[in-house]
Amino acid sequence: MSDKTIFQKIIDREIPAPLVYEDELVAAFNDIQPQAPTHILIVPKKLIPRVGEAGAEDQATLGALLLAAGKIADKLGIKSRDKGFRLVINHGRDAGESVPHLHVHLLAGRQLEWPPG
Ligand code: 5GP
Repeated sequence: MSDKTIFQKIIDREIPAPLVYEDELVAAFNDIQPQAPTHILIVPKKLIPRVGEAGAEDQATLGALLLAAGKIADKLGIKSRDKGFRLVINHGRDAGESVPHLHVHLLAGRQLEWPPG
């Protein structure tokens, strides 16, 4: 039986999900249960279970996640200050993490509330 996370299977093309962005270090695809009109998950190709478990050797990968978010936002036309987007990373149970493969949620397309629930 495969121990791969669901996100690893998507990255490895074992589960079909159109990629909205891909580079050497990260891939991005739409969330299956969107919480906003735009809800994209940006995922490192290397399995890092959660952000607090990343190490110094992951610096480039962590940077790539945020740079990818900017590129995706630019492509979607939501990078201007009068539109915008929110990035969310959930680490652990209290934060609501459900998939143990680091991912950045990119949410946009509606007025987002603050503070988050
Ligand atoms: P977390 O709660 O761990 O921060 O976020 C996990 C996210 O992954 C959730 O928003 C959930 O909807 C999404 N998700 C879970 N399984 C799948 C899947 O098979 N495909 C896609 N595209 N998203 C998934």
